[in-house]
Amino acid sequence: MSGDTRRIVWRTGARWRRGPACGDRRRARAHYRPRPVTTEATADPTACAWCGVGFPIGARRVPGGLRCEACGVVTTAPWPTDDELDAAYAGFYRPESGRFSGPLDRLLALSRGRLATHLDAVAPVGPVLDVGAGDGTLVRAIRRTGRDAIGLERARPDMRDAAPSDLEAEDTRYAAVVFWHVLEHLRDPADQLAAAARLLRPGGILVVAVPNAASLQARLFGHDWLALDLPRHLTHLHPRALETRAHELSLTVLRRSQLRGGQVLFGWIHGLTRRLTGLDLYDAIRRAEAQQTPHTGPRRALTLLAGTALAPLALLGVAVEVATRRSGTIYLELQR
Ligand SMILES: [Zn+2]
Repeated sequence: MSGDTRRIVWRTGARWRRGPACGDRRRARAHYRPRPVTTEATADPTACAWCGVGFPIGARRVPGGLRCEACGVVTTAPWPTDDELDAAYAGFYRPESGRFSGPLDRLLALSRGRLATHLDAVAPVGPVLDVGAGDGTLVRAIRRTGRDAIGLERARPDMRDAAPSDLEAEDTRYAAVVFWHVLEHLRDPADQLAAAARLLRPGGILVVAVPNAASLQARLFGHDWLALDLPRHLTHLHPRALETRAHELSLTVLRRSQLRGGQVLFGWIHGLTRRLTGLDLYDAIRRAEAQQTPHTGPRRALTLLAGTALAPLALLGVAVEVATRRSGTIYLELQR
């Protein structure tokens, strides 16, 4: 999606043991690597993509999908096929020229630099693994600190096309593993988080940033929430689900942040602009070749003007969200 999401839908290494598919479809998926492109019809998921508990008939439908009674996580419904995801990530999503107009790509690179410096300060000695490394901005920033860094990303010659679970048989253990706005894109997020925990050295750091489906902005904007980002976001997580999983994996919470995960203010500005004017600010701030629907000329100017005018109100929203600890993004730093 949004600001920062990486293009990551693994074909190889995808593991569906706990995924929403069931019966023959699940068995078929468990064995492919790589498997043929699916021609399955679009359908609702049959089980929670986070905890694996099956959805009853008449499961509660909320913006984005079906809410799991067991863990509270929302699984995207209908569950997209590989073809639909391929189309959703194609072309405009992450063009080689960059995604954002003006200085925004440079600002994102600066924030990755800050994350790299922070990781270098808190992680033990050793390499860093960036899961869903996108164009490699964080990987390069980590290497500049003098550490080795490896990025996992699909279809990039400078990255490894693999999932964390594919690396477990190797000898390397990592000082830190990063899931930066990536977990919500995976078909088997809980399994990959577990694999990442096993890839850590003792004292190693696991960093997770994901949109917070329990945030005020998610509740207020509903179907218009920026971070719903259908169909690319497959699960819609809340802090308790993530921390419960961390506890199950014997990881200690070192740091929670309401703001470090990014996209909090922009989520508010985007949501207010969409609700009050119907205009799409996220498309308007992207380069022409990175827009899902063209936003050029007067329409783009009008959208940017609306976003600017609504920024003070958005700041108020952020203040309330942060004060009530229901910010639009979850940032967790976990330690093995
Ligand atoms: Zn669940």
